[in-house]
Amino acid sequence: MAILYADVIIDIALATLDKTFQYKIPDELMDKVSVGCRVRVPFGNGNSIRSGYVTGISNKAEYDEGLIKSIFGIQENEEAIEGQLIKLAAWMKDRYGSTMIQALKTVIPVKKKVKQVEKKYITLNISPEEAKKLLALYTKKNHKAKIRLLSQLIDDKEIPYDIVVHKLNISAATIKALEKDTVICINHERIYRTAVKSDYGRTEAVLLNEQQQASADTFIRDYDEDRHGTYLIHGITGSGKTEVYMEMIRHVLNQGRQVIVLIPEIALTYQTIMRFYRQFGDRVSMINSRLSAGERYDQLERAKNGDIDIMVGPRSALFTPFKNLGLIVIDEEHEGAYKSETTPRYHAREVAIKRAQMCNASVVLGSATPSVDTYYRALSGEYKLMSLTKRAKEGSILPIVDVVDMRKELLNGNRSIFSDRLRELITEKLERHEQIMLFINRRGYSGFVSCRACGQAIKCPHCDVTLTAHNYGRMVCHYCGFEQKLPKICPACGSKNIAGFGIGTEKVETLTKQEFPEASVIRMDLDTTSKKGSQEKILSDFADGKADILIGTQMIAKGHDFPNVTLVGALAADISLNSNDIFAAEKTFQLLTQAAGRAGRSSKQGNVVIQTYNPDNFSIRTAATQNYEKFYEEEASFRKLLRYPPYSHLMTVLVTSPDYNLADSIISRISTTIKSEADYAGEIEVIGPSDALISRINDVFRKNLFIKTKRVQTMTDIKNTIEEKFKDTKNIIILFDMN
Ligand code: ADP
Ligand code: ZN
Ligand code: ZN
Repeated sequence: MAILYADVIIDIALATLDKTFQYKIPDELMDKVSVGCRVRVPFGNGNSIRSGYVTGISNKAEYDEGLIKSIFGIQENEEAIEGQLIKLAAWMKDRYGSTMIQALKTVIPVKKKVKQVEKKYITLNISPEEAKKLLALYTKKNHKAKIRLLSQLIDDKEIPYDIVVHKLNISAATIKALEKDTVICINHERIYRTAVKSDYGRTEAVLLNEQQQASADTFIRDYDEDRHGTYLIHGITGSGKTEVYMEMIRHVLNQGRQVIVLIPEIALTYQTIMRFYRQFGDRVSMINSRLSAGERYDQLERAKNGDIDIMVGPRSALFTPFKNLGLIVIDEEHEGAYKSETTPRYHAREVAIKRAQMCNASVVLGSATPSVDTYYRALSGEYKLMSLTKRAKEGSILPIVDVVDMRKELLNGNRSIFSDRLRELITEKLERHEQIMLFINRRGYSGFVSCRACGQAIKCPHCDVTLTAHNYGRMVCHYCGFEQKLPKICPACGSKNIAGFGIGTEKVETLTKQEFPEASVIRMDLDTTSKKGSQEKILSDFADGKADILIGTQMIAKGHDFPNVTLVGALAADISLNSNDIFAAEKTFQLLTQAAGRAGRSSKQGNVVIQTYNPDNFSIRTAATQNYEKFYEEEASFRKLLRYPPYSHLMTVLVTSPDYNLADSIISRISTTIKSEADYAGEIEVIGPSDALISRINDVFRKNLFIKTKRVQTMTDIKNTIEEKFKDTKNIIILFDMN
């Protein structure tokens, strides 16, 4: 029998996860050792026995075989949460292409060296009777400090260390002496830095309507019969999905299990968190990017210790170390933010389903505009589909949607960014003191700067993109941050006829102020929210009625609930449509539907105006009628025809290098390698290689190719082949991206 070796990580809580050690697996343990196992191993010169986790198994010795020690034993009856997460990491490594270390760092909370906030208390270590006798003794000897402390302790039993030092003025030396004489005890209590202050009130659960109850019941019935699968709640905005999650969560908690709720970072507002706190009290915790590393670690520790049962957070909350996880909820499951942009480039939905399978838990996805992939699986029966078709709140009505053809506006002599209909509605809503959101999916002042004489658009010197003009007289690259002054003459031909084209948020702000001087206007985009907390400030100001009109990018289209907003205008709905991405139609539909969902969240009549040059485009038409099924039908048949996901798996192979020729030759060799592998014949379709959509960023060249295949395993195999073959090539990076 071949010898097998295990990679073992020692002291996982402290390790930086950068180093594993190789051990032999002895014959008697051969069947028992697997990835995620907890093992005991001899360690260091003294061969002291330490415990660790197996992170990988191979049949190759990494160094002199004779020097490799053997695993000592295995801790069998312990299903440690770390083991479970390590297994998940191993799966992610294979699925998404990363090293085991990168995968481990993604799933295991690593303790950062942060100062612990610690509170110490002093208590008596002797009976009060004894203390009184001692007090008499100290009085005789005139030990003033000891007298002060002891008499206080006889009254109070427990006094914070700080108070003893600063208010009773007792020196650390005295305290130490008393502790040594076993008169007092110093108790350490670690205070977890709680993420949310607990000044919330509790609210009762709402009475679910028929559709909501039916969804909850389906889930609960399955759950009680130990059927754990994936569910999709397809419910229009405001249909009460969140209330349904809460009912499901309540059921899972009652069985003594824990719950993870994923919400896109952008929708993780105070409002949202408070809804959970009011229902579930301080058994809830949350993480978000605003927490420090220490605060984050603390919240994860609390989950591990069983101090909390619900974790609310963005993508990374998926790895909360709950020991008995019963449910993962993913709200707004279609959101792009659920896909990681760093290696391993995982999708939270897939990983959630995997994690749930590993611990016999369920997954609930929710969205008003499910991703095509998810809906496809729901229709095929892989996920259970539940629909909420009505707004939940008594008396709230769906908005009226107008689609305006901007070509006609132009023909009628209207050159402004506001169509007649939109201008009319803005005036009307302002008169009634109702609020307005204007949405354009491009920041900056104008889209790009170009010359009318020679047609040249001004590009970033480091990237293959045009520069965006900003209000303050400069042009900025939105990819690398390069900035330069707006030129007065064309750098190519010298013509003075140089100007900005297209509109962005800044220009909309200027034009809105000109057109409606009586209105107060605020803007929210990446440029106004780069400072910590500024996004909350803008949103809460708007919610408090401090502005009439909020202008912004897709940031404002999502998740926020403003009851006084009765008009939403999508100024240029075509921007995302023309984005040259195979998912452009899906993104446009989602964006417009979500934006429209912001209008009329209350009993007042809401209006939505969609301005476009493509009024007949199906994603715009179906968004206007809020007809998801129709949109899905058209989009799905189009994808089927072209064999795009979900009808195939699509893998992008991206090669980047500062050396253009190197990138070019490597991508060609990759292409040849894949095409010549007999194993894949007839199974795959290769598109490319070619320049990536943006062929250069920050002076690094980018080349890619696409592979379409029916089987997931083929993607993984191809990835492994390429990785193995090119792993020693210097000066290039090869990235894989699935679907
Ligand atoms: P979604 O998550 O689908 O957008 P929410 O759960 O946020 O919807 O519900 C929208 C609004 O309707 C919220 O203010 C919520 O409190 C209210 N709501 C939801 N369900 C009910 C119900 N059964 N009865 C009364 N109000 C409800
Ligand atoms: Zn020119
Ligand atoms: Zn650039």
